[in-house]
Amino acid sequence: MPKAAKSLLVTGGSRGIGAAVCRQAAAAGYRVAVNFASNEDAALKVVSEIEADGGEAFAIKGDVGTEADVMAMFEAVDKRFGKLDALVNNAGVVDVVARVDEMSAARIERLLRINVLGSFLCAREAIKLMSTRHGGKGGAIVNISSAAARLGGVGLYVDYAASKGAIDTMTFGLAREVAREGIRVNAIRPGMIETEIHADSGDPDRAWKVADTIPAGRPGTAEEIANAVVWLLSDQASYVEGAILDVSGGR
Ligand code: NAP
Repeated sequence: MPKAAKSLLVTGGSRGIGAAVCRQAAAAGYRVAVNFASNEDAALKVVSEIEADGGEAFAIKGDVGTEADVMAMFEAVDKRFGKLDALVNNAGVVDVVARVDEMSAARIERLLRINVLGSFLCAREAIKLMSTRHGGKGGAIVNISSAAARLGGVGLYVDYAASKGAIDTMTFGLAREVAREGIRVNAIRPGMIETEIHADSGDPDRAWKVADTIPAGRPGTAEEIANAVVWLLSDQASYVEGAILDVSGGR
């Protein structure tokens, strides 16, 4: 473990892209808080993998869309690490494929609560710990948006796409709001990535089924997204502020 290792909270760190970010960030020397919503086994597996590799991590349960959970989560991270240097706002959900004229209010509300409100609440708490305005030492936030924000989610999930559009705008505005307080805020827009999220939309094989529509000819991997996230968090990206980086195989 390098001296004065940086600490990182990854929301939705138990599976998919978040888990890959946790593993790669730990390999880069971060102490990692692995947030999960319900799949504790998956979160503990990520923690074990990191520990087996000589890193430090702990699992923390919490629904990012519930303010009390978010508050408790940041308190626990602060207590455990004594500081926070970075946040990856990764937790996100889709719902089953539907046209807008078939969507219930409850569906749209849940999606916006987790994807948008959750990212705002976590960013708010991270800023309180990291901003020089609040006595912190600065830090970095990476928001996980989606290529859907550009493509619109037509015929699949326009609500999800719109939630990611909100993440893009939040990234743009927040980056400028806190840039002078030592915090860099950026986003990544993944394209079709092979994770379990597609099963939640009703088609576990969706990523490969659309491979022909992707210039790269294949879906991406969670590791390919994590590479970009860890770079954006790092000092290598010290002059990157408010950027929205497409990591989408050209789609
Ligand atoms: P995934 O494999 O379904 O994993 C989702 C993760 O989010 C899990 O760790 C899950 O925890 C957690 N989570 C779900 N709801 C949560 C909540 N309310 N509070 C806290 N954690 C919660 O998803 P993924 O594909 O890795 O997606 C990660 C992010 O990338 C999402 O924001 C997604 O929108 C975005 N993205 C994905 C793709 C893609 O093709 N996969 C493309 C573009 C953008 P549990 O394990 O406890 O359920």
